[in-house]
Amino acid sequence: MPLETLETRLEKIFYLTPSVRTFRLRFVGGKGFPFQAGQFSMVHIQGEDKVHKKPYSINSSPFEEGYIDLCIKFIEGGFATNWFWNLQEGAIIPAAGPYGNFLLKEPIDYDPIFIATGTGLAPLRSMLRQGYHSGQFTNARQVTLIFGVRYDDELFYADEFREMEKQHPNFRFIPTISRPKAWSGEVGYVQDKLKKYVSDPQGKQIYVCGLTPMINAVEQTALEMGFDKKQIHYEKYG
Ligand SMILES: Cc1cc2nc3c(=O)[nH]c(=O)nc-3n(C[C@H](O)[C@H](O)[C@H](O)COP(=O)(O)OP(=O)(O)OC[C@H]3O[C@@H](n4cnc5c(N)ncnc54)[C@H](O)[C@@H]3O)c2cc1C
Repeated sequence: MPLETLETRLEKIFYLTPSVRTFRLRFVGGKGFPFQAGQFSMVHIQGEDKVHKKPYSINSSPFEEGYIDLCIKFIEGGFATNWFWNLQEGAIIPAAGPYGNFLLKEPIDYDPIFIATGTGLAPLRSMLRQGYHSGQFTNARQVTLIFGVRYDDELFYADEFREMEKQHPNFRFIPTISRPKAWSGEVGYVQDKLKKYVSDPQGKQIYVCGLTPMINAVEQTALEMGFDKKQIHYEKYG
């Protein structure tokens, strides 16, 4: 199926942390492109002499129709993120999609373990919300989200995942902070929490998203724990 490039209108900006914002892009004309949880969109940014295409994971879930949310971290000196930070609500933004094969393995006859740092959370949030909305996760014995950030004020969507824990007894949320200031929860890297909270690789699949060094560290730890490469699925941001 050919990929569609559609016009979207920036409907709302959600200010999550000092450096992370979610941008809600509503499809002009109502109907968006179909996508599966875990996929990404290519945002078209008009530069001085050419259009720059930048990939961003879709942070909303397929059951939410008519718009996509993109959860973006500001990069000092970054071309696309500076462009996003200067946008006003109402701006028209062309976006293409869906792209990518970072998808949940079906059927869900296993316990999924989601691992992210920073905005690597975006496709995993889409999968988690879709999985519970559709009822696919209801029969898993356990669904785990390990989410790492550096500082206390960089933690986002934590209230939403704490609420998910209350709604779904088989879900556990493990936020961890590597350089805490005033934090009484888990401290350290996501790969160490995988080792701490997961004992047996049997019947489990790992979905991990973020920057390459973290993904490599998670993969190495998982392999040492006895996971097979086939049980580890990832999306690298760079
Ligand atoms: C499949 C895919 C999905 C993605 N989804 C998301 C997403 O949902 N949210 C999101 O925030 N980003 C996501 N990214 C990264 C995104 O596409 C851009 O690379 C990022 O926003 C930086 O773009 P920029 O133009 O602002 O920076 P650039 O002008 O491209 O880069 C400026 C400098 O910053 C460095 N840099 C780039 N990214 C980072 C980083 N994260 N941390 C530290 N240094 C960095 C670059 O190496 C470069 O030196 C995704 C990438 C891929 C491949």
